[in-house]
Amino acid sequence: MKKLAAGNWKMNGTAASLSEVAALVQAQPAPVCEMLLCPPATLVASMAATAKGTALHVGGQDCHAKASGAHTGDISAAMLRDAGASHVILGHSERRADHNETDAQVLAKAEAAIAAGLIAVVCIGETEAERDAGRTLDVVGTQLHGSVPAGATAANLVIAYEPVWAIGTGRTPTIPEIAEVHAFLRARLTARIGEQAAGVRLLYGGSVKPSNAAEIFAVPHVDGALVGGASLKASDFGAIVAALSAA
Ligand code: PEP
Repeated sequence: MKKLAAGNWKMNGTAASLSEVAALVQAQPAPVCEMLLCPPATLVASMAATAKGTALHVGGQDCHAKASGAHTGDISAAMLRDAGASHVILGHSERRADHNETDAQVLAKAEAAIAAGLIAVVCIGETEAERDAGRTLDVVGTQLHGSVPAGATAANLVIAYEPVWAIGTGRTPTIPEIAEVHAFLRARLTARIGEQAAGVRLLYGGSVKPSNAAEIFAVPHVDGALVGGASLKASDFGAIVAALSAA
């Protein structure tokens, strides 16, 4: 399995930001791990053009479950593919919170993404209240079962475990806590999609930065990271890519 360093630019970046992409691919011309950046939809085509012929993959941050139609402001998986994307993030906690996305909707989007030839990066994770109540495994197990298509494979699915309270806060779970959730997710995924689960990349996400990446990447069943803030700068994301390549 090739590990994956994925960056989520969220609602950040304009054409000028593509200079960071040029710097990243110059610094990491042939990383051992896979490298993915998911810019806002406005930059998918131009980032894909910048990344053409390099080791960098480009993805979207969401797609509609339908292939086309009267859905003002939305974009389909096929449109992302057409713009040069190979992956799409689905069910990020910010979309679950801001747009009330349910597991069923994330599942429908993942099916659409896979049908269009994209790799679905499905996000799950507990809130701080849920962790404090001892419900973390229950919550992520339910999200996993509800958001992942039963027919998904190692080739078209990536899971990102992102505790909501760790996103953008500088806080992370302890190493044993990350280990517990990732081992649980591998087992749950096996129950959901069978033997293909062994090859699905399980990413950790939430305040990953150059200074903590190596110890997180040493955790069993952590096959990479989904990185928010630290993916905006080529120097930081490049250091995380280097740490994953060395893990
Ligand atoms: C994210 O939003 O997916 C994320 C992990 O953000 P950050 O790395 O900034 O915590």
